[in-house]
Amino acid sequence: MPPAPHPWRDALAAVVALFLPVACLGCGAPDRALCRSCRAALAERPRRVRLVGGVRLDAAFEYEGLVRTLLLELKLRGRVDVAGPLGHRTAALVRRALAEAPPGTVVLRVPPSPRGRRRRGFDPVVLLLARGGVRGTGRLHRARVPGRGLLGTRGPAGAGQKERTALERVAATVGTLRADRVQGRDVVLVDDVVTTGVTMAEAVRAVRAAGGRVVRCVATASVES
Ligand SMILES: [Zn+2]
Repeated sequence: MPPAPHPWRDALAAVVALFLPVACLGCGAPDRALCRSCRAALAERPRRVRLVGGVRLDAAFEYEGLVRTLLLELKLRGRVDVAGPLGHRTAALVRRALAEAPPGTVVLRVPPSPRGRRRRGFDPVVLLLARGGVRGTGRLHRARVPGRGLLGTRGPAGAGQKERTALERVAATVGTLRADRVQGRDVVLVDDVVTTGVTMAEAVRAVRAAGGRVVRCVATASVES
């Protein structure tokens, strides 16, 4: 378990950062959050395409190395200054998906876990897309499962994820998401990180269950499947 966040400490860090140089997260050089050469190296990193729930997933990056570091800094430490370099390519994939989809296609985000939302106070996917100029997206909702309350099993803080078998992960995730007002509509789904694909597959299931059709999934980063 990571230590509980301290608002005063975050505020202090933000003030200190105004006066101290920031170290590049890629190479440690005193610079912006990501120096010019690390930005260039990031731009050279490979994209990933895989299938999730029978739908093509376009990922802006493979989830490894510097990309993984940047996403963890964004999601766990609230380093919003790294959203730009990651978000541009994510948003570009959403725009391309929309260009190839039927008119009227909607973009829906996979919601963050309740735990992640409480800890961060912002939705990383909203930020990533906004940095790339994509705004006004909708999102799926967390479903209340009788007896289990609001489920949030994803993310690095989701205790026990790694220890569970693939089947147990799927069983624990089915029914946790819900889509509204997608009857007869085409949908592009977006999430930040896709690893096992269980959460994205549940998002696909939720859209289909509500009468919609998922034409593409987009992620900022994905592991190889
Ligand atoms: Zn650097």
